[in-house]
Amino acid sequence: METAEIRRRWLSFFESKGHAVVPSASLVSQDPTLLFTVAGMVPFIPYLTGQQTPPWDRATSVQKCVRTLDIEEVGKTTRHGTFFQMNGNFSFGDYFKEGAISYAWEFVTGSQDEGCLGFDPESIWVTVLKGDDEARELWGRVAGLPPERIQERGLEDNYWHTGVPGPGGPCSEIYVDRGPEYGPDGGPVVDEDRFLEIWNLVFMQEELSEVRSKTDFDVVGELPSKNIDTGMGLERVAYLLQGVDNLYEIDEVYPVIERAEELSGRAYGADHDDDVRFRVVADHVRSGLMLMGDGVVPGNEGRGYVLRRLLRRAVRSMRLLGVEEPSLPHLLPVSKDVMKASYPELAEQWDRIAEVAYAEEQAFRRTLASGTSILDDAVAQAKSSGATRLGGAEAFALHDTYGFPIDLTLEMASEQGLSVDEDGFRTLMTEQRERAKADARAKKSGRGGAGVYRGLADRLGVATEFTGYEQMAGEDRVLGLFSGGHEVERARLDGGALESGSEIELVLGSTPFYAEAGGQLADHGTIRLGGGGIVEVTDVQRPVPGLVVHRGRLVEGEVAVGEGAQSEIDVVRRASVSRAHTATHIVHKVLRETLGDSATQAGSENAPGRLRFDFRATRGLGPDELAAVEARINERLMADLQVSAAEMSFAEAREMGAMALFGERYPDVVRVVSVGGPWSLELCGGTHVLNSAQLSLVKIMGESSIGSGVRRVEALVGADAYSQLARENVIVNQLTDALKVRPDELSERVAQLMTRLKDAEKEIAQAKASQVLSAASGLVERAQDVSGTTFLGHDLGDGAGADDLRRLVTDLRTRLGDERPTVVALTGVAAGRPAVVVATNEAARTRGTKAGALVKVAAQALGGGGGGKDDLAQGGGQDAAATGAALQAVEGALRA
Ligand code: ATP
Ligand code: MG
Repeated sequence: METAEIRRRWLSFFESKGHAVVPSASLVSQDPTLLFTVAGMVPFIPYLTGQQTPPWDRATSVQKCVRTLDIEEVGKTTRHGTFFQMNGNFSFGDYFKEGAISYAWEFVTGSQDEGCLGFDPESIWVTVLKGDDEARELWGRVAGLPPERIQERGLEDNYWHTGVPGPGGPCSEIYVDRGPEYGPDGGPVVDEDRFLEIWNLVFMQEELSEVRSKTDFDVVGELPSKNIDTGMGLERVAYLLQGVDNLYEIDEVYPVIERAEELSGRAYGADHDDDVRFRVVADHVRSGLMLMGDGVVPGNEGRGYVLRRLLRRAVRSMRLLGVEEPSLPHLLPVSKDVMKASYPELAEQWDRIAEVAYAEEQAFRRTLASGTSILDDAVAQAKSSGATRLGGAEAFALHDTYGFPIDLTLEMASEQGLSVDEDGFRTLMTEQRERAKADARAKKSGRGGAGVYRGLADRLGVATEFTGYEQMAGEDRVLGLFSGGHEVERARLDGGALESGSEIELVLGSTPFYAEAGGQLADHGTIRLGGGGIVEVTDVQRPVPGLVVHRGRLVEGEVAVGEGAQSEIDVVRRASVSRAHTATHIVHKVLRETLGDSATQAGSENAPGRLRFDFRATRGLGPDELAAVEARINERLMADLQVSAAEMSFAEAREMGAMALFGERYPDVVRVVSVGGPWSLELCGGTHVLNSAQLSLVKIMGESSIGSGVRRVEALVGADAYSQLARENVIVNQLTDALKVRPDELSERVAQLMTRLKDAEKEIAQAKASQVLSAASGLVERAQDVSGTTFLGHDLGDGAGADDLRRLVTDLRTRLGDERPTVVALTGVAAGRPAVVVATNEAARTRGTKAGALVKVAAQALGGGGGGKDDLAQGGGQDAAATGAALQAVEGALRA
């Protein structure tokens, strides 16, 4: 029975019992304490806890759920998905225990012809809370369950509450016995794999006054109005009704595994580790799809991080399956196609989802490429020094320099048998964060902290006047002097008042120097003092409002408060920074033209010759879009747009449509910078060029995500942009020389070469494969009869890896025909490691001969392990000299 059909049956069954059908809520939970919707009851919490009056007495839903806690279980158990759907029926003060139990019993065991699920009543087991005699009695009376199939469990498993004072109550779980081949007798208390939990009924009947832990709480009394909340795992029921072994093989998930098989050339069911990877891929691709469908985008925190982790784990599992090429473009559409019947919004949102997902895979591939080799080196080094764990410093360097997430480091290290010093890693992370904060503080306020400057600012009473919009030089007096974090009267080189080197800070009455603000870096320049002293200025800050502090080195003579000062800024630097700042306004405007007005500024830096612009956006720009943005920017430069600035009231500025910057507080009088009249209007205190043509050229160097919802464009401006293009031109020339083609033929030529290389690789692989297969015809003759089974055991020797063995084993099985029970076992050795593959035909399996069991015997002889399905299984080990013994072991097992 298809999953979608079970879903339909669920809803119409409960609708026919008077339940309102409520559509699934978003995976992004409305409850701020939850990252995701983790159960069907989540959207009903206000009704169940009595905070709100429900519009109905009974309701039913099929709710999308994500449980991140189950991520490690995926692929290893048969029953845990990170995404799954929970069927629920709810009663708000209407029916209670008896109603819930009889509906559940009817739906589970009622006949399929009547719209129910048709499970054999003999296969059903239930658990109740120890002491809940009412539930026990009902299961006997309503369902006719014998006492031995009603098991008891303690508070730990079968009591529900929210963790805070409020409603609580016992649970009762329903299990299906999958049969003795899946585990020992004894019901769910003995084995949860054979006895599969499909449904949990919660009876909310008590009021709790205090909750100390899961099992320790105080009950005040009975709830005046009792509720029912139930949850049935849709995928779990589907896997039972579809006759498969786990929830990754159901109709809504398995097609992704099949596609992954094609991509990897490996068979699902042949190798245990590979199987787990296949399941992780299928599960995570689907969960990622559903999360993106509900608007989650990959990021470094919260929901975005969970999504990122899912997508990255899927991509990495594909790599472990041997697929180096991007795989999401092949897998995600398959998942979309099977899920869209139940969730049509996936098809509508598809373009956006695909764009986000594929970009994330690209970004991850870059991270992996740089980080993996560094990690391998670190692991090799740790191992050769006999260590069993990777140092915190290495993990930190990987994170800091290569953006390698810590959980990936943990996972990859553990695959190589190493642990990671996580505490060390976290300590370094904290230190770095503290350092960054301290740096930012120190830069703004200098070594003495803001206090010393505030003293001077209060005494002066007026703000430093900035003359630098018009003038590049100026004359005024020294009003204050700081050295080594203290205010001083004078400072002199050579043993004067200077205590620490020749660092000095100067405050003037007015200055042409621009103090770093609004992303624009400070001016540099020179201040000459009346008494012959010279200060080279390398930084200018405003540590407290109104006070501009020039920082630099006293390179000659002395400086004293009260003397005259002639300032001159570095005009080349200023012009270059101003070009970058005007370019930033143009970039901002063009991005808004492209992405809409939601692309607001989130930060920027205007440095000589280059700019960095951060903006909020839910998606990135594709390569074509980015090229179009760059073209539009340069077209605006050539349009020779006037750049001008005017002061006005904040209200007037807003009226004109000026863009105010993120989170900044503006004074009553603001400065509005316009580029091209009304085309770009921004509130801005920075310095700019006079017209856009002065920028000459803007070259975008890249666009990327720098965190949840924030993206960054980096660009070169003017001469720097030109040099970059010139450098790229040199590279093109080198390539055209080497490949002997014209520049416009380059990409075609490279594509040709790549194709030829791929073809050659394919040919080599085919040659190798046909070598292996040509050996096959001769081998058939060597088959012999072992206790009524045709047995062919052969060692292919050195150079034959597991892939070769698999290819040959199925070929041989076909050649040997299907009249007689037949078993083929092949061994080989690749890179010093022995492998064994066993295949059985239908007739052999009918006799109870299973490849999975035989391969275990063989792998044991090799000093390793293996497993797989009844028809095909694979194993490996350590002892390359034991392949003969492994084949003998298989033969022995057949004889026995
Ligand atoms: P388990 O012990 O198997 O993890 P659970 O006790 O966490 O299950 P509940 O919280 O009671 O499960 O959820 C109700 C139903 O939802 C379960 O009976 C099961 O059918 C289904 N379910 C729970 N977790 C998952 C999952 N990760 N994947 C698929 N179905 C699930
Ligand atoms: Mg669970």
